[in-house]
Amino acid sequence: MKKQYLLILALAGLITILNGCLFGGHYKALVVTGQNNHNWKASSPILKQLLEQTEKFTAEIIKTPEKGGDMNTFSPDFSKYDVVVLDYSGDSWSEKTKSAFVKYVKDGGGVVIFHAADNAFPEWKEYNEMIGLGWGRTEKDGPYLYYNRANNKRDEQKIIDITPGKGGSHGKRHELEVKTRLEEHPIMKGLPVRWLHGRDELYSTLRGPANNMEILATAFADTAQGGTGRNEPILITTNYGKGRVFHTVLGHADQDGGPAMECVGFIVTFQRGAEWAASGKVTQKVPYDFPNAVSVSLRTNFKEITLEDDLTKIPTYDLTKSTKYFVNLQNRIRAEGKSPNKLLEFEKMMIKILENREATVDAKKMLLHEISWMGSSLSIPVVRELAKNQELKESADYAMSRLQPLN
Ligand code: ZN
Repeated sequence: MKKQYLLILALAGLITILNGCLFGGHYKALVVTGQNNHNWKASSPILKQLLEQTEKFTAEIIKTPEKGGDMNTFSPDFSKYDVVVLDYSGDSWSEKTKSAFVKYVKDGGGVVIFHAADNAFPEWKEYNEMIGLGWGRTEKDGPYLYYNRANNKRDEQKIIDITPGKGGSHGKRHELEVKTRLEEHPIMKGLPVRWLHGRDELYSTLRGPANNMEILATAFADTAQGGTGRNEPILITTNYGKGRVFHTVLGHADQDGGPAMECVGFIVTFQRGAEWAASGKVTQKVPYDFPNAVSVSLRTNFKEITLEDDLTKIPTYDLTKSTKYFVNLQNRIRAEGKSPNKLLEFEKMMIKILENREATVDAKKMLLHEISWMGSSLSIPVVRELAKNQELKESADYAMSRLQPLN
């Protein structure tokens, strides 16, 4: 009897370990919040959800006392975690907690600085070293850092600007054109070199020590939107002691997150940045719904857009709308359509939409273009039919001229 009981215990233990290894929970994350000039009550649970969604983290949220409260009561054991995510800007921590945090990072702990966390603690020298650049810093803390603007990305250079003044500003919120500067960095590898980020504040004129720092990506601060006309750093890494810090200025939170947090570009760089900060590696795949240079991609429920979503939304497409569902389908076809059989499956799905009388002309034009390179003789009847429609004739004729017979 006793033996059986021990066996059950051992099995239960093994299952827990397997769960940890195979189904996530590899890394422990702590989201620190409780004070912020932003809507931390909305953003912190979203950050926790995004971390756990990767199946690589278990995450908890810890709140500091409210503004003016006794900060001595805030002293988490940072050493229990692989990554500490700061969604915090408020009262200074106690000296004891600050020392514990510095030790945690020096000893190899990971940190993610999220949006307004780079407004926090301007007087804390070690924190400035960790974040590289921030708001409210002056010439005594370090230079302004940005890339100038040129027609060709190769002509754009990193500018170190020692002009005296305060760090931190932003223009009106707008969709941001993001450019990768370090394509080979584990966080950026495999992402498009240019993509469009959902409507957000673009933090500009940040300054700080910028030691041991790399700029992974910049975004253009359009003067038409009250911006600086420069390419401002938006994704940054620093090394501090043995620790790794990932700093994203993206993600200004509205009541329910809003487009800045719903943007797949924000979500994916945050998730990858957290894994890199925790481990120095990134094992996450780039999802199909990642944005491209012409179209923002938002996850309204923070979940990856599925093939079913694509097939339901594509028929309603018109030129004034985002192409994200179509881009998502294209990405799937390019990644999964390696075998003729798989391509045929995608072709059949597209034929269904082409045959659908309710589907819009714009949707059909886009699908005809896609079918033109990967379609077979299976598409001939529907393409022939669509060629009778004046609005679709040109696209249909083009597709017809390129369709390959089925072997
Ligand atoms: Zn903000």
